[in-house]
Amino acid sequence: MESADRLHPPLGVSSVSVSAVPVAHVDELQTYEEAVSSCTRCRLAQGRTQVVFGSGNAHADLMFVGEAPGFHEDKQGLPFVGQAGQLLEKLLAQIGLQRSDVYIANVLKCRPPGNRNPQPDEIEACESHLFRQIELIQPVVVATLGNFATKLLSGRQLGITRVHGQEQETTIGGRSVLLYPLYHPAAALYTPSMLTVLADDFARLPQLLGRSLEQAVPPAEPPEPELKLVAAHAASEQLGLF
Ligand code: URA
Repeated sequence: MESADRLHPPLGVSSVSVSAVPVAHVDELQTYEEAVSSCTRCRLAQGRTQVVFGSGNAHADLMFVGEAPGFHEDKQGLPFVGQAGQLLEKLLAQIGLQRSDVYIANVLKCRPPGNRNPQPDEIEACESHLFRQIELIQPVVVATLGNFATKLLSGRQLGITRVHGQEQETTIGGRSVLLYPLYHPAAALYTPSMLTVLADDFARLPQLLGRSLEQAVPPAEPPEPELKLVAAHAASEQLGLF
């Protein structure tokens, strides 16, 4: 894969970042995925249909990390293919990206029974799979979706309500990455106010990736709080989610 494939120049995005991910790392990612497909490190191996390793562009500058596969993900072997995934795709489209431009993974690679929360020992057993993925993909921004991914990758116990939208530099796999906590799309599906915030936070991703939306005209002054709210609400309505 050519370096410019790292993040396809999406519609409305003016500049393309250049990949530094060696081809050998992509091969290693595939080899690692094969190895993980038979993982039995925790009890979840017994109930799963298959391991949901992750999917997308192995050269991506932008990586999303969710919580764990659900019913549909377990059946299809792909992350975020249910309703939350549809919302994620709509949010991506709003910033001119599609699934194939980014890489999507989860904290847990196997579905917890009944979609219950990940248990601490399951996270501990699984976390090195995620760390290795990040090491091989070498993203610039890792957007964590919800509490579990945010707490694991930040190493802090602060909840998503406090930290969403606040990027922080951290070191993963010996590399500096920008961690960007976001509300989980599944939570935002049922809470319109959360969806507004999620859309607002999402809109900052191009800037964090060091690029800019072609249409975006930088405001002369920071918008008034009321205006900002109206704009975020409009963005959510555009997503057809209210
Ligand atoms: N689907 C996933 O793959 N992960 C989540 O966290 C939620 C839905």
